[in-house]
Amino acid sequence: METDVIIIGAGLSGMYQLYRVRQLGLSVQVFEAGDGVGGTWYWNRYPGARFDSESWTYGFSFSDELLRDWDWSEHFSPQPETLRYCNLVADKFDLRRDIVFNSRVVSASYNEHDDRWEVVLEDGRRACAHFLVTAVGPLSAPTMPAIPGVADFRGEAYHTATWPHEPVSFSGKRVGVIGTGATAVQAITEIAKTVGHLTVFQRTPNWCAPLHNSTIDAATRARIKANYPEIFARCRNSYGCFIHDADRRNALDVSHEEREAFYEKLYGEPGFGIWMGNFRDILIDKAANDTITDFMRRKIRQRVKDPVLAGKLTPTNHGFGTRRVPLESGYYEVYNQDNVRLVDLRETPIEQITPAGIKTSAAEYAFDVIVYATGFDAITGAFDRIDIRGRGGQRLRDKWADGPHTFLGLQVAGFPNMLTLVGPHNAATFCNLPRCIEQNVEWVTALLQHMLEKGYRRIEPTAAAETAWTQHVHETAARLLATQVDSWMTGVNRNVPGRQKRTFMAYAGGAPKYREKCDQVAAAGYEGFILS
Ligand SMILES: Cc1cc2nc3c(=O)[nH]c(=O)nc-3n(C[C@H](O)[C@H](O)[C@H](O)COP(=O)(O)OP(=O)(O)OC[C@H]3O[C@@H](n4cnc5c(N)ncnc54)[C@H](O)[C@@H]3O)c2cc1C
Repeated sequence: METDVIIIGAGLSGMYQLYRVRQLGLSVQVFEAGDGVGGTWYWNRYPGARFDSESWTYGFSFSDELLRDWDWSEHFSPQPETLRYCNLVADKFDLRRDIVFNSRVVSASYNEHDDRWEVVLEDGRRACAHFLVTAVGPLSAPTMPAIPGVADFRGEAYHTATWPHEPVSFSGKRVGVIGTGATAVQAITEIAKTVGHLTVFQRTPNWCAPLHNSTIDAATRARIKANYPEIFARCRNSYGCFIHDADRRNALDVSHEEREAFYEKLYGEPGFGIWMGNFRDILIDKAANDTITDFMRRKIRQRVKDPVLAGKLTPTNHGFGTRRVPLESGYYEVYNQDNVRLVDLRETPIEQITPAGIKTSAAEYAFDVIVYATGFDAITGAFDRIDIRGRGGQRLRDKWADGPHTFLGLQVAGFPNMLTLVGPHNAATFCNLPRCIEQNVEWVTALLQHMLEKGYRRIEPTAAAETAWTQHVHETAARLLATQVDSWMTGVNRNVPGRQKRTFMAYAGGAPKYREKCDQVAAAGYEGFILS
């Protein structure tokens, strides 16, 4: 089948792009690997899965009707509610009729003779379009640990990102969880409430901060609904489009007492305020970062009764905020339970998954259930899993082997008419996502409209624009302490071959600067792109 546009993925990005493309009068089909919409919120059904963004800042802002018809029940809503929200979006805008579910794209290739992209699905079906929009997700390619024996385990085994649709019971069971990232922190806290015995296998402890979730009462709900324009405007102007924006002061410009009081206040407040609304220099100045890191270290010691265990749960290889901060609701207290044990993999690495459980260099642990909370091949992983070939058969995977090269994170030289919505090098890589998704989708839609009006058939960035942007992304990131740390933000994943070298995945200049740059490019007639 041939359409004007093919979109890969029916998460929030793909759904909104579909809605906008239709308004241009273009024909479109969306291919989605899952059997429902919602992307992240469709796949990640693990216990405890919920927002770290305030729910009321996360929903789409483009439709007053949608804002009017939807109520969030909690300040940080759980996954089932967010999935219901995604389904409401699909129903309200009648999106499903252009989405082909259970359809994983395995390859996409550009034919320069007729300016067409051909995609091939896992089952061999083929489809063509003039434009290809990737909405494949920043965290949608799950990774398993690189440990032998995974297939040998005889009990139940689950990856958090491909969690079953039916409830999983942990009651009276011996459960092993591998991983201590943001997902694991949520899952461990929830599993610990009902588990028989829980063992957590930790390689890298993270600095976790309290979420402070609560339900939204009727008065607050009414206030939120009345204030959506202000809420979205505030997000729009903040660095990561969260409701929290950095404090104008530097950490060391205030007295010790004032600093401590400020950290205490942030620690007692909901959401990412302690990360995003902290002193402006804590993520760029080591001495400033040391002060908040020391504060967080003391908090762990206060909350975990056993000092040895507290030590193991305290990061030693990175400062607070230089990796994704997990938000928690009683995570540290889990380790005060008699039926919970921590295995520090820095001391005793896992050697093998066995039929009965997990074998480290020191012992073998027997389990009824193993939970792999081992995360994703982030940002570029979903691209790498598709054989994408541009002009002359060039593979995207090869072009990005040493790290991504893009212009605005939205296009790649040599891959005409392919638009990458939440790919590397745009502000969406680290953002309160729907805010950045709306910006990117609207920018792409305006570009398509411009091409239709002017009769252009092809768009591609110049090599010079791509080089300059890629350099700019790296220069902007250089000041961040995060670039000195291995994490998915720096493209390092020890479970994925070839992902051991640091690069920088996100545009670190912040969403407002990114938007300004994109607007400038458009206003200058899409400067840096070749339109023909
Ligand atoms: C557990 C978890 C919690 C999160 N919490 C927050 C939060 O609080 N705030 C926030 O801003 N962000 C959060 N995120 C990030 C989240 O991914 C984004 O908020 C948002 O959902 C991204 O939407 P998307 O449409 O770009 O990508 P996704 O939601 O990942 O959707 C991508 C879709 O593309 C499909 N796809 C991928 N490859 C193919 C292929 N080859 N063929 C066919 N289909 C394909 C996938 O199946 C998926 O449905 C969280 C992510 C996770 C994993």
